[in-house]
Amino acid sequence: MKPKSQIIGMEPYKPGKPMEEVKRELGLSEVHKLASNENPYGPSPAVPKAVFEAAKRAEVYPDGYAAEIRGAVAACLDVHPSQLIFGAGSDEVILMLCRAFLTPETNTVMAAPSFSQYKHNAVIEGAEIREVPLKNGSHDLPAMLQQIDENTRIVWVCNPNNPTGTYTTAEEFDAFIKQVPSDVLVVSDEAYFEYVTAPDYPDTLSRLSDYPNLMVLRTFSKAYGLASLRIGYGVASPDLIEVLDPVRPPFNTTTIAQSAAIAALDDQEYIKNCRDRNRKALDQFVDFCKKHGLSYLPSQTNFLLLDTGIPGNKMFEALLRKGIIVRSGEALGFPTSIRVTAGKDEQNHLFLQALEESIKENSTFAEH
Ligand SMILES: *Cc1c(COP(=O)(O)O)cnc(C)c1O
Repeated sequence: MKPKSQIIGMEPYKPGKPMEEVKRELGLSEVHKLASNENPYGPSPAVPKAVFEAAKRAEVYPDGYAAEIRGAVAACLDVHPSQLIFGAGSDEVILMLCRAFLTPETNTVMAAPSFSQYKHNAVIEGAEIREVPLKNGSHDLPAMLQQIDENTRIVWVCNPNNPTGTYTTAEEFDAFIKQVPSDVLVVSDEAYFEYVTAPDYPDTLSRLSDYPNLMVLRTFSKAYGLASLRIGYGVASPDLIEVLDPVRPPFNTTTIAQSAAIAALDDQEYIKNCRDRNRKALDQFVDFCKKHGLSYLPSQTNFLLLDTGIPGNKMFEALLRKGIIVRSGEALGFPTSIRVTAGKDEQNHLFLQALEESIKENSTFAEH
């Protein structure tokens, strides 16, 4: 058989280690996964009932148009329902965008390191990838602008950026999008939007009417705590949504996910509470870094990328043996860093304790 040449030898996405597997392998009774930027408090307590009710209609195909959640999101964001497209996670919206816009004759511009799925899907479409190194952990938008030419179809702005947690300010974003040619799609991936507290973070939704070539991505996977149900969405001009919609698989979001998202969206008090607790947890992580002289990147997300000076895979293993799963920076483009998701108080305490011990063990080992 003859698959597309570009997918031969391509690695499938490597998720964080499943907790049960870690427990079994290391004989640990308790393991804390702080690796995938999930909400440690789970979804709003209103969600399980919505899921249970929706499960009673499991034999019926979902509403492909997702009318009810569409109406709820439109009202919440103050946009028209025709400005939305839903995906099985915003991952699927990224896939649809690549499928709709990229061919081997085109190129796409992105920061590096950034979220892996932009490149992954662009490679599958055979497009040329133009990666622009981060500057001090943030998008170098002027340099990204330089990479745009007549064959550019999509520019990705991950804001805040995964895996660094840094953000692009409103001023930087405006200066950038003003200069992007109007036939080049700009994607603002805002997966961590609900965690942002910086006052100068851009309100991209208010720019949609000025820029028909802008798409904003949001998800229910992170702060809303619905990662396992797979639902996210894009917001853009109705014309752009109309272009993209034929690419969408007919029943791509499930009734259960749609119902859960409606219940989760309705509980904004819960989201606010999660955001406040998250900020406190990050402050604790930052205090630890300052106390131990570790460098880190200031984060507007629910994770922190911190440089322990020890190879990421080695630190990952050391923490794993103590029952804490983080993400090694080695696969993320930061060889001596780890990326840790803010957990519950008790988990954060255990993590910092394990990190302190691991750093000590490493320096003792190095001295001998
Ligand atoms: C987690 C994440 C997503 C997508 O998550 P879904 O579960 O597919 O909605 C998209 N972009 C970034 C930067 C992320 O971190």
